[in-house]
Amino acid sequence: MNLYDLAPADLDRALGEIVSPPFRVKQIEEWLHVRGVDSFDAMTNVSKDVRAELKARFTLAFPEVLTRTVPASDGSQKYLFRLHDGQRIESVYMPIGDRTSICLSSQAGCAVGCTFCVTGFFGPGRNIGPSEMLGQFFTIQHEKQIPAEQMNVVFMGMGEPLLNFENLVTTLDILYRNMSPRRVTVSTSGIIPGIDDLARLEKRPNLAVSINAPDRKRREEIMPITAKYPLEELMASLRRFPLEKGRDLTIEYVLLAGYNDSKSDAVALAKLIRGLHAKVNAIPFNADPNLPEWMKRPNDTAIDRFVDTLVQHNVRVTVRRSKGRDIAAACGQLRHEKAVG
Ligand code: SAH
Ligand code: SF4
Repeated sequence: MNLYDLAPADLDRALGEIVSPPFRVKQIEEWLHVRGVDSFDAMTNVSKDVRAELKARFTLAFPEVLTRTVPASDGSQKYLFRLHDGQRIESVYMPIGDRTSICLSSQAGCAVGCTFCVTGFFGPGRNIGPSEMLGQFFTIQHEKQIPAEQMNVVFMGMGEPLLNFENLVTTLDILYRNMSPRRVTVSTSGIIPGIDDLARLEKRPNLAVSINAPDRKRREEIMPITAKYPLEELMASLRRFPLEKGRDLTIEYVLLAGYNDSKSDAVALAKLIRGLHAKVNAIPFNADPNLPEWMKRPNDTAIDRFVDTLVQHNVRVTVRRSKGRDIAAACGQLRHEKAVG
């Protein structure tokens, strides 16, 4: 059993069987959940006998780094990991001023099948466990030596986090030992039961929802999951999602030239989200040879027009500077094919 796959309460129990008193258990948990060590021998304040016993019963393993891309012009870097069964996942390190975001994958592939997304194009993969999500985080944190107070984590890599809910929640609980839930964002394509489950958590991450179209018809065209979770019902689930003071939902909106980027589309989007505590994150489409040819990134004039129209309708909006576009690390460009980077 890999100790990084255990939820905090189960880890307590497992360690409690061989380690006492309780403060010794806490010491080991600190090595794991705060320091993120990948060997028992690194636990220098734990006795040799206890380490031997731990080694005999448990393992500590993270995915192996296969490649790191050369840092892009903005400093971002993509990591390709190999999981124990040969599957591959990717993460992106993104330095932004004095903060750092790490974009994590939540599945080795994605079954949701959005037509503008490379991960969707390559199809479903398996759920990944807490050790595989935490491994992405700790590997990059260690390599880059990022202090915990400067880190943000976004689940915007490969996969649909709310379709891997239990493992996601275990991972969140462990991440919260390093950072406030306010620094963690989960992005979903709109899995309504998952959003409602997230709403019931005591410690909720920030929620980002990929809306991507101003009406149901177009959303269903590019996000077939809309047939299962209709846009109107999705909006209702966002209206009932509890937000603490000062927190906002993020509405992600991929801009496709001539498809959903007109002035009237911006007006329709503003109307759709009226009344929500939300900011819009407009993401100009990142092209890829595997995606439909008609899909194009709007030019700057069109992007500005869309953004300005939202602002005129009192919508807060940011445009995602596509981190790492030159290394194919940007959103929607994560894949699990063999040759990467
Ligand atoms: N499955 C989750 C999280 C991963 S996708 C979700 O769909 O929200 C993260 C973001 O990348 C989503 O907002 C998605 O709409 C966006 N995205 C996917 N493909 C893209 C592309 N080719 N160009 C720009 N953004 C893309
Ligand atoms: Fe999956 Fe998100 Fe890509 Fe859609 S956009 S296919 S949900 S990873």
